[in-house]
Order: sequence, then structure tokens, then C-alpha cells
Amino acid sequence: MRLETLAIHAGQPPDPAYGAVMPPIYQTSTFAFEAVGKPGAFDYTRSGNPTRKALEDCLAALEGGSRAFSFASGMAAVATALALLDAGDHVLVHDDLYGGTYRYLTNVTVRQGVEVGFVNMRDLDALQAAIRPATRMIWTETPTNPLMNLQDLAAIAAIARDRRIITVTDNTFASPYNQRPLDLGIDISLHSMTKYINGHSDVIAGALIVRDEGLAERLGFLQNALGTPLSPFDCFLVLRGIKTLPIRMEAHNANALAIARWLQEQPAVAEVLHPGLDSHPQRDLAARQMRGIGGTFSFRMQTGDAAVRLLERVKLFTLAESLGGVESLIEHPWTMTHVSVPEDARRRMGIDERMIRISVGIEHRDDLIEDLAQAMGAG
Ligand SMILES: *Cc1c(COP(=O)(O)O)cnc(C)c1O
Repeated sequence: MRLETLAIHAGQPPDPAYGAVMPPIYQTSTFAFEAVGKPGAFDYTRSGNPTRKALEDCLAALEGGSRAFSFASGMAAVATALALLDAGDHVLVHDDLYGGTYRYLTNVTVRQGVEVGFVNMRDLDALQAAIRPATRMIWTETPTNPLMNLQDLAAIAAIARDRRIITVTDNTFASPYNQRPLDLGIDISLHSMTKYINGHSDVIAGALIVRDEGLAERLGFLQNALGTPLSPFDCFLVLRGIKTLPIRMEAHNANALAIARWLQEQPAVAEVLHPGLDSHPQRDLAARQMRGIGGTFSFRMQTGDAAVRLLERVKLFTLAESLGGVESLIEHPWTMTHVSVPEDARRRMGIDERMIRISVGIEHRDDLIEDLAQAMGAG
């Protein structure tokens, strides 16, 4: 079946108890045993819950996985995936990562005796050269935030497969609609469902999706052992949001591309970083591995002052962190999402005072363009 149909039906047959069409919220911590020594299908919500199972079965279907796991946050999904590693293991990560993942790797993972190596994975030779006998995992994130760099997932999966290295892709920015890492040979697809999958800026949640049964076993064990799963009520909210994921993503893709093209024409704008534009150096890779780019991208104004003025003057775009909701947001990585990255590292990455990141929502695009135009004083 196709994604639009799976989003609505996968994992969600009418409830066996009363035929409820929406999966009920099984808001219970524990389940009655059928007899001594004989639990029913579920026994305790940390290890399993029917509402969570409905969401996880739907997520697995959306990315062509065999199993999915949902977590209390995107970071809980990150922590659970990294718990696959043992002391003495080496993990290679792309050098331009979500800040929370970077913070976890450098403050928690390294203290557990795992070595973390950073490499620019746009350069496949550099990636190959960085692999060591102890390398057990390669961690990608594409497109990256806020620089919109891509990594070639099929090529990276091929490099890892020969060496039996687990590959992970943080697929948050693309969503399952725009990119399916497992189809490209990646082992684990990770999401902050806080963003596009839930899509309504009212839940914090994460997910891991896999095809391999052995990995599924290990992640299921860790989800229960670490106690990181998502609550039944939040599973219900995400299931409610997920039904419109395909039509929301179509609107995000089209709105953002139209706004990126408009921005490119504005004299006050120095550069637009959107992999759907002809000017983007990785446009061909984007076309190969993504259906669309999503609603989030960045651009640079001519000056830092002009960027601040734009942020102060927009009315429809809300000045806020996060992304992926139906409403449009705007933010300044220099003073907001990336302020904790040391200044020289920010500059080296290409983040400066002039950069603005927007999460384009699903409002009418002309209203959004008019708002940006009045804020730039361009008409
Ligand atoms: C937001 C985000 C996360 C973390 O997710 P939370 O739900 O905030 O814990 C991880 N990766 C990316 C790319 C994100 O945007």
C-alpha cells in the first residue's frame, strides 16, 4: 500500500473491544493476567501498550521497517540507539549535527568509554579513512540543521555493510514522506516526532525504525530496560497527527520551495540554502534520495543587522525554536538554537549573524511571502 493509505490504516484496525475506529488511549500502567503464570498480550505499559503498538506498527509501515519503537523524546531515541554501543567501541558521526545529539555524544557517550569521531561525511574518502577496527556505528543526519548539508545514504550504507557497522540516520528534517533511509540500506532511522511526524507542536516524542530482527530485539530490550518509551496519551496524539502527514508534507514542500525561490530574488538576501534550488551544490543528491525537501531551510541576509530587523518585524512567522509544525516559525541560529556552540566553531561551520532559519508551515504561501516582504521593507 501507499504511504497516504498506510498513514491512516497501518497498525490501526478497529479496536477489538468495541470497534472504536480511532485506537483508544489505553491509559493504564498494568494489565490483568489471564491466569497464574499466564499474562495476556500486554502485562505492564513500560514493556508494551496497545496504543503504543498501534503507533509503532504504523511507523514501521511508513518507512518500510519491520519494527518501530517510540520514545518520550527525540533525545530518548538518540540515547537508546547509542546504548547499543559498549565501552571500547568507536562511533563515527557526521560533523554537523543536531546540538542535543552533539551534547549527548560529547558529555555522556564518551564518559561511557565509547570513542566518538567526527568526520565530514560529504567526503566519502574521509569517511573510509576514519573507520577503525573498533568502529561499530556510523551516525548520519540529513539534511542538517541549519546548514542543509546532505549525506549520500546509499553510498554510506554500502561502505558500512562490508564492515558490519550499524548505520543510523536522523531523518527528522525529511520525515518518512520525503526520505526512507531503510530503503537506501541504512539500519536505523531515527526521528524527533516532535517535528513533522506529529506536526502540531503539542508533543515531545521520538522514534527508531529498523528492518533487521536482531536489531529490533536489542532495541526493544533497551526501550524497556532504560524506561524510555512514549506515554499512551502522547502515542494517541502522534497517531492523530500522523494521519495527515502526507498532505502536510506536500504543503510544506511546495510552500518552502516557493518561498526559497522568492527569497533568492530579493536584493536584501545574500544566499538561500535549500537543496531543491538549482544553486544548491547537492541538488542532484537531493533529487536522488528525497521526494521533497520539507518546510525547513536557511538563508543569509546581506548583514547581521538586516537579519535582526527581519526577525523583529515579521508578524505571521513566530520567533521560536523547533520546526515541523503547521504554523510557520523563524529563528536566528546565532543567538538561539546554536548559541551553545562555541563562537569559532559556529563560524567554521558557516553559521553567522546573518543566517536565518525558517520552518515554513502550511498557511497560504502568499500570506507568508507578503509577511517576509513587509518585514524586509521590499513591498
Ligand atoms: C529536535 C531534534 C532532535 C531532538 O528531539 P526532541 O524531540 O527535541 O528530544 C533530534 N534530532 C533533530 C534533527 C531534531 O531536530
